[in-house]
Amino acid sequence: MVVNMDEEVVRKYIKAGDIAWRVKKSVINAIRPGIKLLKLANDIENLIRDLGGEPAFPINVSINSVAAHKTPLLDDTNLIINEGDVIKVDIGVHVEGYIADTALTLCFNDRYLGLVEACSEALEKALSMVGAGVKFSHIGKVIDETARKYSFRTIRNLGGHSLDRYEIHSGEVIPNYADPLSFGKFKKGGVYAIEPFLSNGKGYVVESKEVDIYALSRGKYKGLTNQELSLISYVSNRFKTLPFCERWLEELGLDLIKLRTTLKELAVKNVLRQYPVLNEALSTSIVVQFEETVIIADGVIVITNPNIKT
Ligand code: MN
Ligand code: MN
Repeated sequence: MVVNMDEEVVRKYIKAGDIAWRVKKSVINAIRPGIKLLKLANDIENLIRDLGGEPAFPINVSINSVAAHKTPLLDDTNLIINEGDVIKVDIGVHVEGYIADTALTLCFNDRYLGLVEACSEALEKALSMVGAGVKFSHIGKVIDETARKYSFRTIRNLGGHSLDRYEIHSGEVIPNYADPLSFGKFKKGGVYAIEPFLSNGKGYVVESKEVDIYALSRGKYKGLTNQELSLISYVSNRFKTLPFCERWLEELGLDLIKLRTTLKELAVKNVLRQYPVLNEALSTSIVVQFEETVIIADGVIVITNPNIKT
C-alpha cells in the first residue's frame, strides 16, 4: 500500500492512467468483427509503449464465456473476433511500476446489451461510493444489487483489488458482492481497481487447463538448466514480478515448442506462477467486465477515466 503518497508518485499514476485512457479510446475504434486478435494485442501493447508507458501485464482479450487471463499466443495467427461476440479487453499500464488497471467490454450482439449496461451501471455506482473509510463490502453490495436488479449475477470469485508498485494484486480484495467476511476499508494513500464482472451464467469462474500468462514467483531458483536460467534472468530484468506471456519472449530466439516446454517446466518447479484462463462455469454464458483504477489522495481520482468525477 502506498502510504504518504507524494506528488511525484501521484503524477506517475496519473500518467499511467492517462495512457490507459487513450489506449481504451483507440481499442473502441479498432475492435470490430473480423479483426485478428494477435495483431490487436500486439498493437495495443505497442501503443502503450509509444505513449510512454509499459504494459503492466499482457493485454487480456477474453471473449464470451471466457472471463479473464486470455491473451493471444504466438501462433494464434488465425483467431479473429466473430460477429455476435462479446469481448472484454483488460489493459494494464505502468510508469516506473505505478500501475493503472482498466477494462471494458465491447458488444457485437444486441442480445447482451442489457448485460453490458448493467455492468457499466454497477461500476458507475460503485465508483460514486469510493472514499477513505468506506468498507469494501459496501462496494460489493451495490455491485451485486445492480446485477440482481437486472436479473444477472456477479462473478463471486473475481473482484477488485489494491495495487502497489510493481504489484497488480497487492493483497486487499474488493468483492463483487456483500461478502460478510470482507472487513477491509479504503484508505487514504491507497490505489484500488474496482472491477465488476457480471454474467448470465452461474456467477463464478473455473480455471481452464490453458495457461497464456505467467509471472515470476518469489522462490529460490535451484536446480535450473542454463536455458531456464536465461529465461528467468530475461523475465526478471524486463518484467520483474509482473505478468508476461510468450509473445514477450520472442527475443530469446527459442523455437516455440522449446519456449513452451521451458515455461511449463519452470511452472512445475514453482519458479513461475501460472494464471490459467478463467471461464464462466456455464460454458454457454456471457461474461462482461468494466474496470477503473482510483487513487485516494485528498479526494478520489479515477485515473483511468477523466470523464468520471467523484
Ligand atoms: Mn484489469
Ligand atoms: Mn484488476
